[in-house]
Amino acid sequence: MAKVRIYQLARELGMESAELMELLDTMGVEYKSHASTLDAETAEAVKEIVREQRGLEEQRKAEEARKALPHRAPVVAVMGHVDHGKTTLLDYLRKTRVAEREAGGITQHIGAFDVHVGDKRIVFIDTPGHEAFTTIRERGARAADIAIIMVAADDGVMPQTREAIAHAKAAGIPMIFAINKIDLPQANVDRVMQDLMREGFVPEAYGGDAIVVPISAKTGQGVDELLEMLLLVAELEDLRADPEAEPKGVIIESKLDKRAGVLATILVQEGTLRIGDHVVAGEVWGRIRAMMNADGVRLEEAGPSTAVQVLGFSELPTAGDVLEWVPDEAAAKEISEERKEERKRREEEEAERRRVRSMADLLR
Ligand code: GDP
Ligand code: MG
Repeated sequence: MAKVRIYQLARELGMESAELMELLDTMGVEYKSHASTLDAETAEAVKEIVREQRGLEEQRKAEEARKALPHRAPVVAVMGHVDHGKTTLLDYLRKTRVAEREAGGITQHIGAFDVHVGDKRIVFIDTPGHEAFTTIRERGARAADIAIIMVAADDGVMPQTREAIAHAKAAGIPMIFAINKIDLPQANVDRVMQDLMREGFVPEAYGGDAIVVPISAKTGQGVDELLEMLLLVAELEDLRADPEAEPKGVIIESKLDKRAGVLATILVQEGTLRIGDHVVAGEVWGRIRAMMNADGVRLEEAGPSTAVQVLGFSELPTAGDVLEWVPDEAAAKEISEERKEERKRREEEEAERRRVRSMADLLR
């Protein structure tokens, strides 16, 4: 870059000469007036500083905008080794902790449910089999904000415990360890803590920062503390979402019902989904005809951190697919068609590659 006059550089950077001269003062650059020339090196340094300042300013503004958004309820996934008590904990919560039901509402298994603690709400993902969480993550979506890792006090850390930990780590979400089955005579909480330390988690009781709560999913002992810890971690995570944003979510579960047709559970993560909205999820599109929550209550709209079972998809959407809002049916159909064609093209290419490869093998 050639030499440049201060007023020229100021214009180029979209700032006042006076502003630029102030910056030059802080940089210790000498000049006579706004018409003075700067050497190429100085001009480049000025540009670098301005770019950096603007980046920081943008970051600050984005963070400020986020801080202005309302909080949303945390979404929790329960993971752990088989038989360590995941289903028992979810059943216990569903039985004892769901809110007073509105008239006519009957608890429905839709893949997620709300637990109320004081005036706070926690969403538990409750899909049959913990695989759903894994599939969702493999598809790149993030459904849960916090993971509960269940470890049975009579068994300790097992292979699927490690898998669960790895999944939570990969998803970048905080973990709370629930040492379960403490009602059993052979329960050994200390041994599980030792196990956890070997995995690199030092419990708070041992001076570390891993949150460990001994519970019995059967008797309910310790479950209140577990919920308190979830709320504490959620507060630290400072979870927020914009109810006015374009609706966005993830498919939690889907099934074909003989009478109703396609039933899909959507976890709304951003914005507010309303009856009549058009959506796409993977290759499937839909128009929301009806929404119902886990209490069997019909809803007209669903805001952030709300799980709803919806009617209106043309085909079965896949669990883990991201749900996007689209303006109308034409857009919905076009996007769905595009994605189907894209997949077919990929499949054909792959088949062709296999053909060529086996041909090459034959000729070897
Ligand atoms: P999952 O495979 O992780 O879903 O485990 P389950 O919830 O199906 O529990 C496996 C077995 O452990 C079942 O027989 C449960 O009744 C039992 N179980 C689960 N939690 C507890 C507990 O806190 N105490 C006792 N004594 N048994 C439990
Ligand atoms: Mg189970």
